Amino acid sequence: MPVKLERKHALPLTLAPIMIALGFVLFKLYTASKVTNPETGRVARVGIDPEQEQRLGLEAYAQVKRDEAAKIVQSGPDVELVKRVTNRLARAAAEKATVQYNWEVSVIQSNEKNAFCLPGGKIVVYTGIIPIAKNEAGLATVLGHEMAHATSRHGAERLFRSELTKTILGGFQGGLAQMDPAQRQTIMGALGAGAKYGATLPFSRTQESEADHIGLIYMARAGYDPKEAVAFWQRMDEQVGKGGSPPQFMSDHPSHNTRIGHLQTWMPEAEKEFASHHQHNAPGA
Ligand SMILES: [Zn+2]
Repeated sequence: MPVKLERKHALPLTLAPIMIALGFVLFKLYTASKVTNPETGRVARVGIDPEQEQRLGLEAYAQVKRDEAAKIVQSGPDVELVKRVTNRLARAAAEKATVQYNWEVSVIQSNEKNAFCLPGGKIVVYTGIIPIAKNEAGLATVLGHEMAHATSRHGAERLFRSELTKTILGGFQGGLAQMDPAQRQTIMGALGAGAKYGATLPFSRTQESEADHIGLIYMARAGYDPKEAVAFWQRMDEQVGKGGSPPQFMSDHPSHNTRIGHLQTWMPEAEKEFASHHQHNAPGA
């Protein structure tokens, strides 16, 4: 008799994890929508729509601006340079974009060698990255890459993959500010905010590679010589070789050799963009 009883209980117990897993898979399928990248054609799965994503980006941006309020540079050559490059890249991105972005950039006085772009097109540039970029095309390499993360909706894809969509949809009414600090930090990290806000969720290799590819197209389309991207990464390589610390924005990025190799394979496509666009743009640096 006891054997029978045990069997009765054993079956649902072993099934339980499977049912939970199945439920989760169904939930994911139900909440997922597929998005096709307008530049590369890659299909990604996301769990939130562009409006929700942009709202999150805006909230994260407001948080960064609150935290860095005292260090935000309002005017001067650094701001002019960053705005000029951003505007040119934004026009390039708009050519194939399926979502409209309200690009905005804040320059923060800091030794941090970092820059990032939040969903919806909210960019943060730390002045420490400017000397490393060295020239306008170098800065376009960095910003083109970061802006491509936003236009490719990598934040939403990452939230979906790391199973944070449910957290967001659950807590969305209250917004980012109402989440507990640990939760907010995780979400901000997933959205692509700098290491300070959560480096626990780096972009995937596929996303990094896609951002490199699209960033190269953007810079070429904006009238910057795409070969300058290779020169930029070689400079980074030299700096690391000399024992210099790599800039933060590179820490979650692929090795330079791999990256330069990939850039070379996309170069013919970028050269074509450059040739057909640079006559319409001011000459690049
Ligand atoms: Zn990246």
